[in-house]
Amino acid sequence: MADTHKRSESDVNDKAFMVHVIQAFISFAILLLVFYATHASAIETVHYSDKKVSLLPLLEFVSERNGETLDEILVRPESDWHHRDSISNNLGQTDNALWARVRLSGITESFSQPIIRLNYPHHDYVDFYLFEHGRMIRHFEAGDQRPFDIRPIDERTFWFPLDAATAEEQEVYIRILTPGPLLIPLDLINYDEAIEEEKLIFFWAGSFLGIIFIMVLYNLFLYLSLREASYLLYIIYLACAGFMQATLFGLGQQYFWGDMPGVNNQVIAFLAPFVQLTAMAFVLRFVDLQKFGSIFDRSIAYLLMFSLIVMCLASFTVPYGIIVKLGHSAAFFGVACALYIGIKGWVMGMKSARLFTIAWFAHLIFIAWYLLDMTGKVPSTEIGNQAFAIGFIAELSLLSIAFADKMNQEKELRIGSQTKLLDMQMAMNKELDNKVKERTSALEKANRRLEELSVTDGLTKLFNRRYFDQVYREHYQQSYKDQHPISVMMVDIDFFKKLNDEHGHAFGDLCLVRAAQIIRKVVTMPGVFAARYGGEEFVVVFPKTTEDRACQVGEMLRRAFEKTTVTQGEHSKIMTISVGVSCEIPVHPGQEEKLLGLADDCLYQSKEHGRNRVTGVSKLNR
Ligand code: GH3
Ligand code: MG
Ligand code: MG
Repeated sequence: MADTHKRSESDVNDKAFMVHVIQAFISFAILLLVFYATHASAIETVHYSDKKVSLLPLLEFVSERNGETLDEILVRPESDWHHRDSISNNLGQTDNALWARVRLSGITESFSQPIIRLNYPHHDYVDFYLFEHGRMIRHFEAGDQRPFDIRPIDERTFWFPLDAATAEEQEVYIRILTPGPLLIPLDLINYDEAIEEEKLIFFWAGSFLGIIFIMVLYNLFLYLSLREASYLLYIIYLACAGFMQATLFGLGQQYFWGDMPGVNNQVIAFLAPFVQLTAMAFVLRFVDLQKFGSIFDRSIAYLLMFSLIVMCLASFTVPYGIIVKLGHSAAFFGVACALYIGIKGWVMGMKSARLFTIAWFAHLIFIAWYLLDMTGKVPSTEIGNQAFAIGFIAELSLLSIAFADKMNQEKELRIGSQTKLLDMQMAMNKELDNKVKERTSALEKANRRLEELSVTDGLTKLFNRRYFDQVYREHYQQSYKDQHPISVMMVDIDFFKKLNDEHGHAFGDLCLVRAAQIIRKVVTMPGVFAARYGGEEFVVVFPKTTEDRACQVGEMLRRAFEKTTVTQGEHSKIMTISVGVSCEIPVHPGQEEKLLGLADDCLYQSKEHGRNRVTGVSKLNR
């Protein structure tokens, strides 16, 4: 039993000890918390020794309640003031004004001219208060809803001089009221260094805008020479995007509409969706969605364009804060949409959509990076802050290349089809040429045939009377000129009427054909030619031939007839001919009829003297 008691006593002692330990622990924890809390709420002091100090991590913030004045903010309990609770540069968006404070020391010992710089140009209202020993010694006003001239230092962002400081320590209170993102890149920096930094930033911004300007000029030149509408859309996109970047950079406020408060916000609110709109218009033109896209793709694209138009119009009435929020989502959705269209074009076999897709993909990555940087999801870096601009330049460059590639391909296609057309035309020309040649040769053949027919006697195939008249005159003329003898021989078949009567006209025709064959066979001397003079009469002209020679040929001919029997069926006949030969060396031109008449006279004499004989003109009884 005692044992049990002892044990329970020691149990009680153990418990008491544990309670003490826990009490001590809790007390310590509370002490630690109190210490930490007081430490956390004590205003932070920054010692300045001519080196740039980033103030954002040191600032304490309090949100302004409705209509609170500076005096009321100053008496707010310490526990209301907080450091920012993320690594983000961006403290989000709020309808209330935000107050920030920090304590400075070492300002008056500095050799340089220290300033406080709020390095972001788009806050609507910024108020700067400088306190010494609890007394306000300076109040500056700035912000893009106020005239540019009221700023203490004429710079693109908000710079506040600390030259009024005389004490060891100063307190800075800054009030920011803006519908846009609460970016507070606040620095304590000397004036000369800030000027140097500004120069560098202007150099980068100048390069950036210069690149865009050159691209605009280059594409304008291409547009003017090629008249392709997508270049114009690309130029509009480039120009708007460049203008937007310049405005975001703060150049518009500094140089153009600084004395018109509110214009800056309006320009940004309008341009943000409008740049997207020009980008979409260009994308749709570049990737031929009518050809490559489905109805769904087109609906998405046109829905997006419609929303962007609505946003452009809404920018004139809807509050800036809402437009900015919408703009961020629209930017992401728009680029994603363009990326999708690019991939679609790529998959559907549009070759230049490949580079185009890579361009938008690069842009998307940089926008995502920028947004992550802005919202504090990744540690803030200088590149992250500039990611938007870098992505944009990357996109523009790749787009330019994609553009050139597309134009090249279209040109190749055009040249290809032109070559094809040319080949076809050449083939057609060749075919036509062949046809013409064929036709021409057929025509020539027909012409030759016609000519032959016009000079040939149909039955005997000797020259006809018409041809004889013409050629005989020429020969006579030539003989007159050369003073050579010319002989003419008239040949007449004897008793041909009777032959016709006895054997029929058809047999008579055959005899005429045979007679012509005999003449052709016997009269072979060059330059001599025979023709059918009419009926059963033939005529032979002998240029440069004497009467004797012509009479010899006449005699040969007469004998050849005598030796030839013409047979057809039961009909059989030997023909005889009477021949008359005249000859002269022409004394006068144009006397050929007379010579022909003489030959006829000779022929008549052959008939008179019993037929089947040759009479030369020298034997003619006149
Ligand atoms: P001659 O010995 O006096 O010359 O007597 P001929 O009968 O030969 O003379 P004529 O001039 O009286 O008769 C010529 C005949 O030739 C008359 C005509 O019927 C015949 N004739 C003319 N041309 C042709 C023809 O093309 N074919 C045929 N079959 N007969 C023809
Ligand atoms: Mg006759
Ligand atoms: Mg006769």
